[in-house]
Amino acid sequence: MFKKILIANRGEIALRIQRACRELGVRAVMVYSEADRDAKYVRLAEEAVCIGPAASSLSYLNMPAIISAAEVTDAEAIHPGYGFLSENADFAERVEKSGFQFIGPTPDCIRIMGDKVSAKQAMIRAGVPCVPGSEGELPDDPVQIRRIAKSVGYPVIIKAAGGGGGRGMRVVHTEAALINAVAMTKAEAGAAFGNPSVYMEKFLQNPRHIEIQILADSFKNAVYLGERDCSMQRRHQKILEEAPAPGINRKLIERIGERCVTACKKMGYRGAGTFEFLYEAGEFYFIEMNTRVQVEHPVTEMVTGVDIVKTQIMVAAGEKLPFTQRQITISGHAIECRINAEDPFKFTPSPGRITTWHAPGGPGVRVDSHIYSNYFVPPNYDSMIGKLIVHGDTREQALARMRTALLETAVEGISTNIPLHRELMVDAKFMAGGTNIHYLEHWLEQHKR
Ligand code: ADP
Repeated sequence: MFKKILIANRGEIALRIQRACRELGVRAVMVYSEADRDAKYVRLAEEAVCIGPAASSLSYLNMPAIISAAEVTDAEAIHPGYGFLSENADFAERVEKSGFQFIGPTPDCIRIMGDKVSAKQAMIRAGVPCVPGSEGELPDDPVQIRRIAKSVGYPVIIKAAGGGGGRGMRVVHTEAALINAVAMTKAEAGAAFGNPSVYMEKFLQNPRHIEIQILADSFKNAVYLGERDCSMQRRHQKILEEAPAPGINRKLIERIGERCVTACKKMGYRGAGTFEFLYEAGEFYFIEMNTRVQVEHPVTEMVTGVDIVKTQIMVAAGEKLPFTQRQITISGHAIECRINAEDPFKFTPSPGRITTWHAPGGPGVRVDSHIYSNYFVPPNYDSMIGKLIVHGDTREQALARMRTALLETAVEGISTNIPLHRELMVDAKFMAGGTNIHYLEHWLEQHKR
């Protein structure tokens, strides 16, 4: 096992990884920007290094600053968390060239999966079902583009090969709008992701977003830890997640899970990863793979009892997976609500000082958050300030626990989306389970205020 790890991230995930390190007896080096000087995990740290000013481009995205922080502190490995540099293959490469272990897959794997076109091609080769669409990148010739769209069938969605975070996508309903939409998506993709290539998929009308969590070691062992339902989204951003996905046949999940495991073995994948699918009319369609730990990993931890972050660190240190597929069982039901510093219905960001913070408690309640009373939420980063996770024997019990937990939670001084979560937890359709990816936006339309 490593003696010392550098955690190249901030917020709740920095704290989550710090906790895993403590349990493993590994020293954690925290890095922080000037805006995060007072973060809880920095105060709790055995070692912490300031890597630059508030702007992410100068701190959490500043590769030389992060690598020199690892050098001066004698860390052996770097955990990238999620977001920031976590899926940047060049960063993983620089980390390894500088003599550190990157806690994640190889740069090659990140590169292949980071380009959604090459990712889909790898999945097709591994027998993972994909959304029908262009075989690869769209050509420049408008005649060919129109031909592809016709054979896929409208509506189609134009997606950036380098896209992420719900950006770089455009739905096209008619041939008249097609060429212009492709040009606009290309221009945006070039500017936002430095890669103008785009591809086309059939736009599924009412899918659910279901994803499979996997873990793999360097000895070609891989397991899947069941699925998560992340269909509650606004602008392609997840706001709450649950495991298992209500109402999906277990045999089908097993079949897809096994395909994902096969794909991992084929790629020589190492670490934690997520295969994201759209699920419609009993069929799964792969859309992309995330080569890192995800925000919503706790719901899987709650139903499997597996510590995903600790396992990531163990396999990066060259250990074998400590369990086989047969030892993985799903028990009960877990739900996660993302707590964002924003207006609950208008979604305008609400950074600032938290005057009061009361965390909920009780059986089956978990809070992953770095905030505290008198903490200042900086305006420079993502608005998520924590996650509330509950586990119950049944989905009904988990819902009841989440209602209680949300009732107990108090955040004052800033606005949060807790009132929105409180309403969703008593919404009849959500309570019934199985709502699709458009449900939340329709709900928000109907509950406009
Ligand atoms: P990102 O990497 O930006 O998260 P994804 O490919 O994972 O992009 O897609 C994000 C979301 O966009 C999905 O969860 C889904 O809501 C929607 N989406 C993507 N592809 C399709 C499609 N072919 N049909 C319908 N919705 C889609």
